[in-house]
Amino acid sequence: MTNFLPKSIRTLIEEFSRLPGVGPKSAQRLAMHLLRSPRDKIESLGQAVTGLKDDIVFCETCWNIAEKNPCYVCDNPSRDKSLICVVEEILDAVAIEKMGEFSGVYHVLHGRLSPVDGIGPDQLKIVELVKRIENGSKDDGEFSEGKSYKINEVILATNPSLEGEATALYIQKALIGFDVKVTRIARGLPVGGDVEYADEITLMRAMKGRGDF
Ligand SMILES: [Zn+2]
Repeated sequence: MTNFLPKSIRTLIEEFSRLPGVGPKSAQRLAMHLLRSPRDKIESLGQAVTGLKDDIVFCETCWNIAEKNPCYVCDNPSRDKSLICVVEEILDAVAIEKMGEFSGVYHVLHGRLSPVDGIGPDQLKIVELVKRIENGSKDDGEFSEGKSYKINEVILATNPSLEGEATALYIQKALIGFDVKVTRIARGLPVGGDVEYADEITLMRAMKGRGDF
């Protein structure tokens, strides 16, 4: 960028354009928008950004981000500790939570197996998951809130991509031998999807996962 704009604006545009999904044009528009905004609005945005990491910790049970450890889901007596939903990313758990139907707890892997990118089991929270299941599949179960819980079911809710499938398969194998039921989320055609245009894997899973009408 030329020196036509003042340095402070150029720096801001540069920072914005590093954000995911923000191109150079959007970065310029955002910076100009802020320049026109009242000072107190800009200051509250600045405080939200600088304070982002201050009050955030990882829950050492489910590895979601939280204000305290354990997080409010793991610490909630009304959540079903016997049911663990395994997801790739925090935002996957957010999406499931928004649905309002899931009463169990989560385990966030923080990624998926991807040999091409050098992501192996050690880079993900898989060891932690296996340990959690190991402790929780015994009769006296996982210890939380001063009580113990027997883990009955692990739902593998990784994405239906090649990496997501490989990750689910790896975890399923790692959990063989524990007294716990391992299930995989059903997949099928999306609403508005067309049988004609669906790929083979989606169609196959839709057929396999068919239910009573
Ligand atoms: Zn938690």
